[in-house]
Amino acid sequence: MLTIFLIISFWVGLILGSFLNCLVYRLRHKKTILGRSFCPLCKKKIKWYDNIPVLSFIFLKGRCRFCQQKISWQYPLVELLLGLFFAFSFYWRWPNPSLLLIGKDWIIFFGFVFIFVYDLKYLEVEDIIILPASVLIFVFSLFLGHNYFSLLLTTLIAVAFFGLQYLVTKGKGIGLGDLRIGVFMGVVCGSWPMLLVALFFAYVLGTFVSLPLLLRKKKKMKSMIPLGPFLVVGTFVAYFFGEAIISFYLG
Ligand SMILES: [Zn+2]
Repeated sequence: MLTIFLIISFWVGLILGSFLNCLVYRLRHKKTILGRSFCPLCKKKIKWYDNIPVLSFIFLKGRCRFCQQKISWQYPLVELLLGLFFAFSFYWRWPNPSLLLIGKDWIIFFGFVFIFVYDLKYLEVEDIIILPASVLIFVFSLFLGHNYFSLLLTTLIAVAFFGLQYLVTKGKGIGLGDLRIGVFMGVVCGSWPMLLVALFFAYVLGTFVSLPLLLRKKKKMKSMIPLGPFLVVGTFVAYFFGEAIISFYLG
């Protein structure tokens, strides 16, 4: 039974990953969400058989059928990642995969991947995705029995944490986008110890990745390195291993 669920959720993840790629492109270029997919390079419409997640990328050897220009690795990677995450959610929650739990996991994973890709690519955050996702996660958490006060407080702490840095660095070290990511982190973590775990891993990872880049002068200003992807990975660690880490240290 689990195998069937894994296959279905992997497939749903692939489709939604494909949608996420499309969303990233269209939000950035202020295009309508509806309408047929087209090649971002030559603008030719993509046939349905060239639009199958991951497989089409392999068959076309990563190039557009018409203009032969290279298609970004982002496309198959995002699809595959979301497929794996969605399937993993079922595996993780088994044998009690309630609709609420899976729904919450999937919204969170979608948000994670969206923030990661968008911030990495454009150094920006899209409110139209991140805020509704945060509200949904909040509502799902309430139905799952989470304490609403703790959820709100954690969100407030996260926003205040980034807000303070924003004020101190006068917006140079941290952007307003990170405050919005703070909202998302707050509702995903749901409690301040979990938030602490998320921030800890985000900043440790951020330091490890940024230091060599800064030393080699590849990136001139600190503000050129987006914080979002690190925050996402940190929150990801907290979401999966937070409880284990906390109980390990607090006994
Ligand atoms: Zn093309």
